[in-house]
Amino acid sequence: MTTLLLHHSDFLEHLTAPGHPERPDRLKALHAALDHEAFAALAREEAPMAEPDIACLAHPQAYVEKVRQAIPEMGLARIDADTVVSPGSWHAALRGLGAVCRAVDAVVQRQYQNAFAAVRPPGHHAERDQAMGFCIFNNAAIAARYAQRDYDMERVAIVDWDVHHGNGTQDIFWSDDSVLYCSTHQMPLYPGTGAVSETGAGNICNAPLRAGDGSELFREAFRERVLPAVKDFCPDLIIVSAGFDAHHRDPLAEINLDHEDFAWATGKLMDLADHCAEGRLVSLLEGGYDLRGLAVSAAAHMRMLMTA
Ligand SMILES: [Zn+2]
Repeated sequence: MTTLLLHHSDFLEHLTAPGHPERPDRLKALHAALDHEAFAALAREEAPMAEPDIACLAHPQAYVEKVRQAIPEMGLARIDADTVVSPGSWHAALRGLGAVCRAVDAVVQRQYQNAFAAVRPPGHHAERDQAMGFCIFNNAAIAARYAQRDYDMERVAIVDWDVHHGNGTQDIFWSDDSVLYCSTHQMPLYPGTGAVSETGAGNICNAPLRAGDGSELFREAFRERVLPAVKDFCPDLIIVSAGFDAHHRDPLAEINLDHEDFAWATGKLMDLADHCAEGRLVSLLEGGYDLRGLAVSAAAHMRMLMTA
């Protein structure tokens, strides 16, 4: 078994505004880095389109309808201070849900050991009924609920190393202890949540970092907080909210990770997936706004996934 990469050109049709950091070039840079013989063994599939109802696994129907109605016929529209949508955004968002659900199918059905969904828009800031921070639907949360609904995955751990706290994922699972949410992130920083004291139903584990922190403190947070929490929870499936904006080149934050830190964290989570979940691990793209930092980090993440 190898690693599955889910992609689709629809993700490039979600347009933001000129100068907006969450732009189609991000995925072009990521795929350019994977267009290399080192990734010849990677299985690649076009992401299927999801039905809108699948979004209701994490969002109220009324919110899904509100998003649909906010999509402009031409030009751009704003659904939150930072979140812009274009005519292609609806299909991109649904294709993103198709990608993450297909990733779950592929891994749980043991077609592949693990999978990475290279999606846009990202998802972890999307709360139950609020688009936020470039995010429309919460891809990771929907993937977790889908794995619980359609398979025997009772306990799902979501590990989020995007440099921003995944307030949306935390919001959705705040009182649902069948899902563990663990996050490393810079604090203070957008969106302002993510303190250690935010613990939900005992299923939230925040490990904030400070501006300027680098590899050593990131790995310490992982070793001392995230990995023990995942090990104690012993999930049936691990989902990674893989943002690469904690890379030192990223313009939106001040954490100084290198691509090797993402490979290291990936390996640690793969070890836990082997221990608890028969190796089942699904990863999906969140942030990462420096094209080079994103590309080298995602490539390092993929290289490690492919060692499974
Ligand atoms: Zn981010």
